[in-house]
Amino acid sequence: MPDDVFRDHTGVHPQRQAGLYSVGVSVLNGRLSGQTLLALADLVETHAGGELRTTVNQNFLIPGVPEASLTVVLDWLKTLGLHVEANNFWRGTVACTGTEFCKLAITETKGFARWLAEEMDARLPGFDQQLKLHITGCPNNCGQAWIGDIGLEGKKIKHNGKLVDAWYFALGGALGQHAGFARQINYRCRSEEVPDALEHLFRAYLDQREDGQNLRAWFAAHSNEELREILEAVPIPA
Ligand code: SF4
Repeated sequence: MPDDVFRDHTGVHPQRQAGLYSVGVSVLNGRLSGQTLLALADLVETHAGGELRTTVNQNFLIPGVPEASLTVVLDWLKTLGLHVEANNFWRGTVACTGTEFCKLAITETKGFARWLAEEMDARLPGFDQQLKLHITGCPNNCGQAWIGDIGLEGKKIKHNGKLVDAWYFALGGALGQHAGFARQINYRCRSEEVPDALEHLFRAYLDQREDGQNLRAWFAAHSNEELREILEAVPIPA
């Protein structure tokens, strides 16, 4: 069994068919406007095989791009503001619909996910681990928090007498050698506190990891209590 398994299809990859490539595009939150989709339809009809596939990571893939068309396809995607090369937070963040359009939702998800991914990249530029950061706005779990390295499930908690958005953490969902669902570690915090908590967690991983130890192996080597203690560390000053 492989030590680690991750396929998000992002980037340019040669296909088995000689001279053809797939181009995987990272779409934070899976949100694309109708105008962008129409432009993409034109792009794949003109410069690829006329096909566009969505992925479980809320990204998409253009298969069948001839080598001679790669440059024009990549330029076109760039013009549309789409990312073929993206940081690991952008690539790995998935969010369900949330309060914006879902009547069952407890918390807002899409805007929070975008803010969180951008905040984490600003705090930890070049973070070298692929990861799945799954955000779900209620216990129905359409955002699949149980299979993320980090799963955040939306709740409300009282803060200064008001109900505010908060997140319950599950950690360590993985495939490969450390396969398993994410573990509920009995830690929760308000939306504004999530970047501090995750920064503590990722910095602890970067400081403590052994040679070649990936994030999933590091989670597996720590108990729920140890991970919760790291998340609960003193907040990082502004
Ligand atoms: S997990 Fe809950 S909030 Fe999110 S889309 Fe599903 S039902 Fe709606």
